[in-house]
Amino acid sequence: MSDPTASNSDHDPGGKKCRRVMLKLSGEALMGEQSHGINPAVLDYLAEEIREVTAVGVETGLVIGAGNIFRGMAGSASGMDRSTADNMGMLATVINALALHDALERHGVPARVLSALAMPTVCEPYSRQKAFHHLAKGRVVIFAAGTGNPYFTTDTAAMLRALEIKADLVCKATRVDGVYDKDPLHHDDAVRFEHLTFRDVLNRQLKVMDSAAISLAMDNTTPIMVFDMMVAGNMRKAVSGEQVGTLIGDVGGQVLT
Ligand code: UDP
Repeated sequence: MSDPTASNSDHDPGGKKCRRVMLKLSGEALMGEQSHGINPAVLDYLAEEIREVTAVGVETGLVIGAGNIFRGMAGSASGMDRSTADNMGMLATVINALALHDALERHGVPARVLSALAMPTVCEPYSRQKAFHHLAKGRVVIFAAGTGNPYFTTDTAAMLRALEIKADLVCKATRVDGVYDKDPLHHDDAVRFEHLTFRDVLNRQLKVMDSAAISLAMDNTTPIMVFDMMVAGNMRKAVSGEQVGTLIGDVGGQVLT
């Protein structure tokens, strides 16, 4: 039996299928056209997209944010204690994780929720061993409640868990088809990058993931693919080695001036 904790060290993000992926979905992804909350049609769509990833034999970890329900920064901006607001944000990620878990199981995809904040009557408390156990059994592992600590984001949680489970690739699935030099929704002349280095992202303060997540990725050379998850098939293509958006890694980055 192969070592479940082994990584696919010769993974080339630009060409080969990965062995283990970490998918990061923003909470806002679940809203669809709604202004907040969870859209059942989007849940079904995502479950089917994730099913395709597992169907090609890729072990799948997943982190979902909570921007569709509550973000700690918004709470603290309106006067709340930041740590309390962040705890609320982390709890909101558990709501999203349970919704995704339910959708996955309904679509025939075995899944488990592991929470960084212990709530054993609702889902399993996070442990790395349990994550490996479920991944080896072909279950999607949804990492809920972020890192379990305030002052972090679910981007950083996704990168942290990706490193812990030795994922080959982090897929940042968004509603934009890659990373641009400026916001493409507000600038017609925005240019999309094919490849970027971690240093490019940090120096240019490109809005991909927060700097803590990018720093972790850079220190551990974990590639990140950023793509539009609302294009059907993109998740499967990304884990299969096809480039479907912007690839961030230390090979082939564009030289930015
Ligand atoms: N959060 C936190 N610690 C973590 C991860 C998340 O405190 O390790 C809180 C924080 O308040 C954050 C909220 O959970 O605003 C939701 O996460 P995030 O903003 O990353 O969600 P997304 O933008 O991906 O929907």
